[in-house]
Amino acid sequence: MQQEDILRAVIPILILLIILEGAYYGVKRRTFPYKEALTSLGMFLIYQLVSLKLTKPWTQSISEWIYQYRLTTFDMTQWWHWIALYLGVEFAYYWMHRCSHEIRWLWASHSVHHSPHHITLSGAYRLSITSFISGMFIFYLGLQILGFSPKAGAIMLALNLLYQFWLHTELIPRLSFLEGIFNTPSNHRVHHSIEPEYIDKNYGGTLVIFDRIFGTYAAERSEGVKKYGVIGKNESFNPIVLFFREWVAMARDVGGTSSLKDKWKFCFGSPGWTPSKKEPVQSIASLSENDIHSFREFDQKAVGSK
Ligand SMILES: [Zn+2]
Ligand SMILES: [Zn+2]
Repeated sequence: MQQEDILRAVIPILILLIILEGAYYGVKRRTFPYKEALTSLGMFLIYQLVSLKLTKPWTQSISEWIYQYRLTTFDMTQWWHWIALYLGVEFAYYWMHRCSHEIRWLWASHSVHHSPHHITLSGAYRLSITSFISGMFIFYLGLQILGFSPKAGAIMLALNLLYQFWLHTELIPRLSFLEGIFNTPSNHRVHHSIEPEYIDKNYGGTLVIFDRIFGTYAAERSEGVKKYGVIGKNESFNPIVLFFREWVAMARDVGGTSSLKDKWKFCFGSPGWTPSKKEPVQSIASLSENDIHSFREFDQKAVGSK
């Protein structure tokens, strides 16, 4: 079984669920964000093409090369090896995802997934085509060093991502005690929210256990989530803009300073880092609209004074 086999088997079901969600919005006379949904589906097709033809062969080769230097070998004939791999992938996913919000070089890719201004099933696989450049795959190489084969790791990651499909909807309410253990639609709405108390929360893939251990868990309030998206970024339906706008912003910031230290921080500091702040803020998402406005003013003054 390959990642592609899993995908091919489930894609018709996923498309049916996306259509049913749209139909349900119609029945309830809620406005469904069709334009946004179609943009997400188009971006998923582009992602599949780029991933199959370009990035996946590279990722596989690197994983195979690292696997030669493994500490031991998990032959995957014992059930508990699969449980260990499941937890290993979840742990790696947690840190990959957390770093994707806290380091701008990774955020430049991951912000693509956060770009929809609504949460619907169609947005689940709005994924970046530049994740390989951001180095997301590096977080999973530890599994090969431990002794899990690249193939087993890829299957488990595909299943983890498949699970995450149903998280992207407003139609499923809070699910009682499950909220404290698993990643659920409610927990993931919190993750996609740009409201201050929800910023940089709930990074898990299928569980929220690591969020609770590492202090990044937040539960959804009874009134739900009101705002989704990326602070400081307008709605766009152009895949090229969505795929590359944070990279362009980063290049502009790097080009706008002569200080090597500042260039480095603009790339590898937190997404909201700017020379005007002594202490780096945690992420761009943690900035208020006022902060962003004053950063822009600072940038313009800095460029103007050159
Ligand atoms: Zn995220
Ligand atoms: Zn998501």
